[in-house]
Amino acid sequence: MSTETIFTKIINREIPADIIYEDEQALAFTDINPQAPFHVLIIPKSPIATINDVTTENAALVGHLYVVAAKLAKEHGFAEDGYRVVMNCNGHGGQTVYHIHLHMLAGKAMGWPPYQDKL
Ligand code: 5GP
Repeated sequence: MSTETIFTKIINREIPADIIYEDEQALAFTDINPQAPFHVLIIPKSPIATINDVTTENAALVGHLYVVAAKLAKEHGFAEDGYRVVMNCNGHGGQTVYHIHLHMLAGKAMGWPPYQDKL
């Protein structure tokens, strides 16, 4: 399966995004349909389609996404109050863009579970 998605276009500046963080491995930008006062997507520059494609070879890159989340939390003042990071996988997980991304949601108290569907 091709891992070329709209997020590759954002990485390559082919489409605009509100990019709030970038380093050699990762990019973070505001979600176009925010679900919290602060909702950013943290993505690896090297695409990985889904969590099912995470391996020991790319585990450090995936771990780096959490390093970026912690950094952003401190920089934006959310570390103490807390926040949520979520990564969806495939259809039942609600994944719509097949380039893994951490959703980082902050700025309000989160409910749990996120969906009230019957088990
Ligand atoms: P998923 O459903 O795959 O976990 O999350 C994909 C997220 O990407 C959604 O929250 C959606 O709003 C966001 N998204 C989709 N297309 C774009 C886009 O072109 N720009 C930005 N900034 N976010 C997008």
